Amino acid sequence: LKDGKNILPGNTTTCCYCGVGCGIVASKDIHNRITVEGDQQHPVNKGMLCSKGMNLHYTANDKSDRLLYPEMRYNKNMPLQRVSWDVALTRTAAVFKALIDKYGPDSVAFYASGQCLTEEYYVVNKLIKGFIGSNNIDTNSRLCMSSAVVGYKMSLGEDTVPISYDDIEIADCIFVAGANPAWCHPILWRRVETAKQKNPALRIIVSDPRKTQTCSLADLHLQLNPGTDITLHHAIGRCLIEDGKVDSHFILNSTSGYEDYRDNVFNTSVAAAAAICGVQESNIRLAASWIGNVKGFVTMWTMGLNQSVVGTHKNLSLINLNLITGHIGKPGSGPFSLTGQPNAMGGREVGGLSNLLPAHRNLANEHHRNEVEKFWQIPLGSIQPKPGLSATEMFDELGTGKLKAIWILCTNPLVSLPDVRTAEEGLKKAKFVVVQDISNKTETLKYADVVLPAAAWIEKEGTMTNAGRYISYLSKVTEAPGEALADAEIICRFARKMGYHGFDFKDASAIYDEHAALTAGTNIDISGLNYGILKEKRAVQWPYPKDEKGLGTARLFADHQFYTADKKAHILSFSDQNRSEALTPEHPLILTTGRIRDQWHTRSKTGKVNKLNQHISESFLEINPLDATPRNIKDNDLVEITSLRGNVRVRVKLSADIKSGVVFMPMHWGLILKSDLNRVNNLTNNLTDPISKEPDFKFTAVQVKIYTKA
Ligand code: SF4
Repeated sequence: LKDGKNILPGNTTTCCYCGVGCGIVASKDIHNRITVEGDQQHPVNKGMLCSKGMNLHYTANDKSDRLLYPEMRYNKNMPLQRVSWDVALTRTAAVFKALIDKYGPDSVAFYASGQCLTEEYYVVNKLIKGFIGSNNIDTNSRLCMSSAVVGYKMSLGEDTVPISYDDIEIADCIFVAGANPAWCHPILWRRVETAKQKNPALRIIVSDPRKTQTCSLADLHLQLNPGTDITLHHAIGRCLIEDGKVDSHFILNSTSGYEDYRDNVFNTSVAAAAAICGVQESNIRLAASWIGNVKGFVTMWTMGLNQSVVGTHKNLSLINLNLITGHIGKPGSGPFSLTGQPNAMGGREVGGLSNLLPAHRNLANEHHRNEVEKFWQIPLGSIQPKPGLSATEMFDELGTGKLKAIWILCTNPLVSLPDVRTAEEGLKKAKFVVVQDISNKTETLKYADVVLPAAAWIEKEGTMTNAGRYISYLSKVTEAPGEALADAEIICRFARKMGYHGFDFKDASAIYDEHAALTAGTNIDISGLNYGILKEKRAVQWPYPKDEKGLGTARLFADHQFYTADKKAHILSFSDQNRSEALTPEHPLILTTGRIRDQWHTRSKTGKVNKLNQHISESFLEINPLDATPRNIKDNDLVEITSLRGNVRVRVKLSADIKSGVVFMPMHWGLILKSDLNRVNNLTNNLTDPISKEPDFKFTAVQVKIYTKA
């Protein structure tokens, strides 16, 4: 008994929701029911949990919607029926083999998730790149952080967050750009709140078209027009240069490209930039004066920059502010992209995107391909140099018929993809669809030819890497229901059915050891790490090479040596033009989408929890009264929102907190509760950043009208 509450001793694990990566102690009471509490010893959350984390036991205990056994339909016109694992995987292997034989390896694809554990990502990536011979693996992480990945690579030479969470607490100025961490990364934000209480001189600047909960802690809210972030960052850069607040020594010795950057930002006056951004010139100058006069400066951002047709350039323009001021590699300083999902970073570590190889090796580099081929004991030349299909490309290519089969694991694309009705057309046309999930209620199941029941996060062992490079362990706390299996086990069984060697791991720890060994000698070397160390230390930050004895590497670039060929950080210049969908008289408003506090992604878990649904119980449209009044729209009216792709109907929340000309809808709702008319991605467009391939979720041209039944 623990604390007299009839609770058995707990296992340490990690929250399965956001990229903060909080540690959890999960226990079972004498009735075998799971309880959760924050792990006091975890360096990330130190015992704290947010509303989603505190209610994890509801989803862990409620098995009413779980997939319990494999199902299959023998042709598209037949219903799904229960089959054994052997039958399901034998048939899937036969179909994959036939398609690969007839149409080649690129006729099949895997679409995974930033909620997959690192071990699962590793085996899927090994299977398709090493053995099937295609690079068609991508994930929903493409939808949230790929612009940050490319931004880091182009500027610092490596996809790496340079700082740790502790740096945020000792910064003197934090610039939060396009993020609402108070709702979307709550425990991290609680640490910022504590830092502000301890140090009232800490300056917090927020740039966002919406006045979010995060703004309540801000000293300055720059309520910019959507799509003008680069102009704002350039204008701040110009002010810093004009005021002599750049770090000339750092620029000279540790960067390249400064002169071009200076010329570029001087093309636009601060007054002109202020007009473009829709903010006051004095506030741009105020932000610059704070940034220019502090010891520690952290930039923090997420989807507002990443989910853009110019997302890579938005990232670079913000990182440039750290570089020109020399605020990198020092305590309390550095760029810090927040990942949305719990293991978006772990997926990249194993190379789980269509353009990556394990340990951040490059697909285009023959030496890197050969290293991996030798390690996996496959013939040289097995791995293809050309990137595979990205997330949105996969569903487009299903529609054109070039891609024949897709295996979807741990994600619900029929709610989360942009221009989702086009994606749905792709799934309708697919020859073969495998869906591997925990829930029997996701929208995507409708198109499955084979359904594979997976174990939930608390029913399997593995690791995840959070937004700050902290690798954290998840223990298996309870058994999966029915015949559900851990995702890695499912993939390995399938690989063996395909006749491939190298998938006979004895357990998850053996997969992790193989992954860790493959990182040796790379920038993200974790060859000194294993489950034993993770269990003892809770979370460590990579790199963690063989001789590491502590908690890993808290801060990178202290020596101002970067991972680029010339060891310098690259200050890059580019136009500040946005290339989003054009507004028209028919669609004059800008729709931006995002998260709310108490829901997670497509609600397949959080939607089951009454306490969480009480916060906001249905989808809505947030609109400024200045835009609502001319349309005769009042609070709580039912409105129809239209774009060139489709329509939705939801009720209105009038709010002066959103900029006039902009409207907001949450991303979470799909068609389970009603029709598909509360699914915001009926409206969004399929434009992507040409470098990162990340979709433009934050800028869709729409019209809003009162809905009246015809
Ligand atoms: Fe989970 Fe994120 Fe909340 Fe932490 S902040 S408890 S990781 S949802």
